[in-house]
Amino acid sequence: MNHFEVLDGELACEGVPLRAIAEAVGTPVYVYSSATLERHYTVLRDALVAEGLGDPLIAYAVKANSNLAVLRTLGNLGAGADTVSIGEIKRALAAGIPPERIVFSGVGKSESELRFALEVGVGEINVESEPEMHLASRVAQSLGRRATIAIRVNPDVSAGGHAKISTGKADNKFGVSFSEAERLYVQAANNAGLNPVGVTCHIGSQITELAPLEEAFIKMRGLVERLRAGGLHVERLDLGGGLGVPYFNMPTPASPADYAAMIARTMKGLDIQFAFEPGRMIAANAGVLLATVQHIHERPEGRRFAVLDAAMNDLIRPAMYDAYHDIRPVKARDAAPVTYDVVGPVCETGDTFTRDRDLPPLEAGDLVAFMSAGAYGAVMSSEYNSRLLVPEVLVKGDEFAVVRPRPTYEDMLERERPAPWQALLKTRS
Ligand SMILES: *Cc1c(COP(=O)(O)O)cnc(C)c1O
Repeated sequence: MNHFEVLDGELACEGVPLRAIAEAVGTPVYVYSSATLERHYTVLRDALVAEGLGDPLIAYAVKANSNLAVLRTLGNLGAGADTVSIGEIKRALAAGIPPERIVFSGVGKSESELRFALEVGVGEINVESEPEMHLASRVAQSLGRRATIAIRVNPDVSAGGHAKISTGKADNKFGVSFSEAERLYVQAANNAGLNPVGVTCHIGSQITELAPLEEAFIKMRGLVERLRAGGLHVERLDLGGGLGVPYFNMPTPASPADYAAMIARTMKGLDIQFAFEPGRMIAANAGVLLATVQHIHERPEGRRFAVLDAAMNDLIRPAMYDAYHDIRPVKARDAAPVTYDVVGPVCETGDTFTRDRDLPPLEAGDLVAFMSAGAYGAVMSSEYNSRLLVPEVLVKGDEFAVVRPRPTYEDMLERERPAPWQALLKTRS
C-alpha cells in the first residue's frame, strides 16, 4: 500500500497534488511520502514483533534512498541504518540515528573506512572476508579497541531478482562459506582486536519468493547452533534485506507478515537477537519520479515516442536492470490507450524507460509519474549530459518540503576548475 492516490481527478501524494509540487519545484523531481515510509517500516516491525521475534534491529539499507529527510523519518521510528561507506555512516549520524544502531556492510572496506567506523562506534561491522577481518583487527588494536563484528556468510542459494542484484551464490563476491565462517569465528574469538557477536547474510534484492530466503535462513540457524556447540558466544543473527516489492507487472512478493511467519518457523526456539537490513521494501513504493512530457514524436515507421524531461541520469533502473516502472499520467485522459515508447532526452538509445507501453493519450506539457521509484532512484542519479542533479521533495500530510534542492548551473560548474597550465590560455570568445 502507498499514499499515491487520485484526489479530485489528479494524482496526489498524501494530501498534496503532484501538480502543485511540479509547479513549485519544476520537473523532473522525486517525491516521497512520509506516511508510506512510516507504514512500510511499521508493518515490518509489527509483523516481526507479533511473531515473537523479540526486539529486532531493523537497520534500513541507506543505499536504497539516502536522503537525510528520509533517514530522519525512519530514524524517528527507531530504525537503525545499514551502511556501506563513510558517506552513508555520516548521513545516518547526521539524521540522528545512534551509532549503536548502525551496521557497516560492504565487500571492500578500506583501512580509513574501518578506522572511521570504529571511532564513531558503529554497532556492528559485517566482515566479508578473512583479509578484511584481519584489517579490522589491526585498525581496532591501533585505536586500543575491539571491533564488534559479524561474519557475512554466502549461503550459496539462488534468489530471484536480476543477476546484477543477486548476491547469495558461491560464485559472487559477497561473504564466506559456512566452513570458512566457522574457522573465522574461532579466530575472531581469540583475537584481541575483535569481538565477534554474530553472523549475517544477504542473498540478493527484489526477492519475491520466501523459499530461497528460507533455505538460506535454515542454513544460518545451523551455523549459529554449530558455533554455540563449539562454546562460542553468538548473540546476533542478521538476516539482511532483499524482500521485493510489487512493481505492478511483477510477481507479487511475499508480505512482511508471511516473511515474519517464515522466520518464526525456521528460528523456533533459537534465543538470539535478530537484525534485518531492508531497503527496497521500505522506500520503493514510497516515492515517484515526476516528469513532464516534452514532445510526442511520431516516426514514419509507426513508433510513437513520448519524450520526457526526465532521463536515464535521473532514473537508471530501466536502462541498468531492465526494470519496469508503472507510468501514470497525473491527470489521465478518459480515452482509449495509445502505445508509446517512453524515452528521455539523453543522447543514447539506452535512455529508454519503456517500449510499447499502452498509456492514456499524452500531450506535450502533461505530467507523468514513474511509480515505485523511491528506492535505487535518486541515489543512482547523476549529471550525465551535464543535466542538473534531480531534486527531492518529502510530503507529509498536506505539506511538502524540498529536501534536496535542484542545484544551479553555477553550482555545477564551480565544482570544476582548469588545470594550472590552462589558466594562462585566453578563453576564446
Ligand atoms: C543492498 C543491501 C541491502 C538492502 O537490499 P534491499 O533489496 O534493498 O532490501 C541489505 N543489506 C546489504 C548487505 C545490501 O548490500
